[in-house]
Formats: sequence, structure tokens, C-alpha cells
Amino acid sequence: MSVPLDSKVFPITTAINDDGHLEIGGCDVTSLAREFGTPLYVFDGATLRNQATGFLDSFRSRYPESRVVYACKAFINVPLARYLAGLGLGFDVVSGGEVAVLRAAGVDLATVDFHGNNKTPEEIAQGVAWGVGTFVIDSFHELRLLDEAAGAIGRRQPVLIRVSPSIDPHTHRLTTTGVLDSKFGFPIETGDAEEAVRQVMAAPNLDMQGIHFHLGSPIFELEPYTEAIERVLRFAARMGEYGLDMRRFSPGGGFAIAYTEDDEPPSIDDYAKAIVGALTDGCAANGLPRPELTIEPGRSLAGPAGVAVYTVGAIKEVPGVRTYVSVDGGMGDNIRPALYGSRYIANVANRANDAATETVTIAGKYCESGDVLIHDASLAPVRANDIIAIPASGAYAPSMASVYNMNGRPAIVMASEGAATLMRRRESYEDLIAQDVV
Ligand SMILES: *Cc1c(COP(=O)(O)O)cnc(C)c1O
Repeated sequence: MSVPLDSKVFPITTAINDDGHLEIGGCDVTSLAREFGTPLYVFDGATLRNQATGFLDSFRSRYPESRVVYACKAFINVPLARYLAGLGLGFDVVSGGEVAVLRAAGVDLATVDFHGNNKTPEEIAQGVAWGVGTFVIDSFHELRLLDEAAGAIGRRQPVLIRVSPSIDPHTHRLTTTGVLDSKFGFPIETGDAEEAVRQVMAAPNLDMQGIHFHLGSPIFELEPYTEAIERVLRFAARMGEYGLDMRRFSPGGGFAIAYTEDDEPPSIDDYAKAIVGALTDGCAANGLPRPELTIEPGRSLAGPAGVAVYTVGAIKEVPGVRTYVSVDGGMGDNIRPALYGSRYIANVANRANDAATETVTIAGKYCESGDVLIHDASLAPVRANDIIAIPASGAYAPSMASVYNMNGRPAIVMASEGAATLMRRRESYEDLIAQDVV
């Protein structure tokens, strides 16, 4: 396999130019590595736009009352927030810091849904004061704090409650959130969800608008969504007894992407068809009016658009065991392989036509034996200073980055129609010591 140009794993603009170099967004990746340094994250503007409009169009064509909010935790910064707001997306946040980024970007905070299982009193008060559109209440503790904070400034805060429907989405144990044994949501099974509805309806400063759930991520099957929607709509109908009028409904995010050629995620349209079908049928069956539908993709927007770019350094062959190809990044910019055992593929960006004839282990530069980006990668023969590209790296990589070993976090560029724009500069040594108080 040389570079899979038809690959579902690489961004849609991926090409190989006359020099045999990988191109993304019309930009030569090898030249970008030289200009901006490595490790570097390259986002393809066309893929981002394609995914965003894919969600908007797929859901709105089937269900016009659909709203798409981007889950910022996949990766957010000021330019990306502006770009996505410009495409008509709202935002899903899980911290005051994420709200602050959106605020700095000039995003209308009325389009923001504030999630999180332990929002601090400061985050709650500030979020209310800043005019965050919706709070998604995740605990009785938050319910009381939010009611007080809204009352203190004379606001009636629109809220959803997050329920846990006890549905296993068959994803990684550490990314499953909608089962009974979870820190997220009010379980329907135990009666907590019912009690939460009752308390929100009785809270003077909370405006109960509807129900949210999020099952986990990535979810490669459609049934967990349809089963959970059925269960939650039955619950919502039952809550009519407390006067609940569910005007808004959200089945969260969690839409899968292809990280390797073996992955077969449903298409955006498959998800839309399943979710809208289950919602429409469930509302009819339970005598509920059609609510507004909120979809919260994170991974599936940023993930396919981002490519991680590294430079090869030391190559160490352990005879009869394996060859370690070390690159200049690793777990500091992408913790997913170490944290979840996530799998990726790689290509040699400066010799993209060469056949992948070797099996090597791509290791990072961090002082941890677990700092391996890809076990048993199929790769063309490489030498020092070659450029390695790892696709499907846009989500939960830069956003989870650390400065472990005092390696600064990577630069990020957006490549679009042959031009590369710096979205975030590389973290410098000055940045690394800027917060130290001497
Ligand atoms: C993480 C999260 C999402 C986004 O999940 P993805 O897998 O990135 O699509 C959406 N909603 C909530 C509440 C989340 O916590």
C-alpha cells in the first residue's frame, strides 16, 4: 500500500504532487514541516467544512428543527471557533475555559450548551452572567447552585437535564458514559432522573426545556442511539405527570470516524436517518410533540480533518523483535494510543509513492515506555529526517496535549486551497516558564 489517496482515513483533499510529496489542502506537507517545524498539526479546511455541512444538511433535510453544536473538547481555539460559528454551528462546552475561548472569538453565547458533571460554583455563576444559552444539569448539587446563581442576577436560566439511559454503546470502557455505573447523568433506572425533573420544574429560576443524553464515543453502531432514544422518550412522556413539556431533545455526540482502513463507521447520513427515525417514531408512539433536536459532534468534525506531522529521528532495530522508529512528538501531543490503546496508520509524507514494505513501531520522544504512537505500522522504509504523517488526528490529540518533559505543544495550521494559515504557534521555552513565580 502506498498512500491511500482514496482512503477514508485521510482528509478529502489529500493528493501526491510531482515531487512524490503528500499534499493536504493543496499544501505540500513536507514544505509545511520545514516552514512551521514539527510536530505540526495540519487541519484541512475542506474536510472541516464538509463534515460540518454534512451534519447540518443530513439532519436538517430530515428534521428541519435540528441544531448542530460542536463539542469543543475535541479541539477548540479562537480561529476554529470563528470558522465553525461562521458555518452556522453552535457549541457544546464542558468548562469555563472553553466558554472563555468562545467569548474571545466573539461567538454568540446564546448558541452554547454547557455540559459537565462537576461545574464549579465559579463556572456556573460566570456562565449565567455571560449569558450561556443552556446549562445541561448533571447533578442535584449543580441544580441547586444554578438555581441560586440565576436567581442572584434575576435570570431564568434555560436548562436541559442529562439522563443516563443504561445503554451500553460497545465502545472503550473509558469512553462509555450512558451506563448505570457512570459519573455522568441522572440514571433513569434508579429514579434519580425523575427526581431531577421534579426538582427542576419546582426551581423558581430554572426554565426546564428538555432532556439530553450522551452514550460515549466512538459509537460504531446505530442501535445504541435508537434504543436509548426509545427509552428516553418513554421517560419524557411519563414526566408529563410533573408538567414536563419537552421542547428540546439531544442524543449527544459520539459519532465514529475511520482511524484505520479496517474501521467501518456509519456515514453521517446513516446516523441522521437512525436518530431522526427513532425520534419521530418515539414521539408519535408516546404522544409527544416534535422537539427541537440538538446533535453534538466533536470527534467526527475535527478528527478526519487533522493530520499529525512528525520528523523521524533515531531508528533502533532490536533484532528478531522489532524496529523502533522514533519521532519528535508522541504522548505529549497525542495521548490516545497510551490512554485507550487507540490505533492509527501512518505514511511517509516526503516519499508518498513508496510502497509500505516494512512493519515498524512508531515511538514518541517522551520518557515513558508506553509512549508509542503506532504498534506495527505498515510503512515504506524510512531514515532520519523523513516526514511521517498520521491522519485522523484532529480530535482529542492537541486538545489533550500536555507539556510533559517540558516539550512545548505543537503548532497548528489550517490548509485550504494551497494556503496554510497558522492557527496556533508552537509553544516556546518562554511560554513554558511564563507562569513560574520566582
Ligand atoms: C464528548 C461529548 C460530545 C462529543 O463526543 P464526540 O465523540 O467527540 O462526538 C458530545 N456531547 C457530550 C455531552 C460530550 O461529553
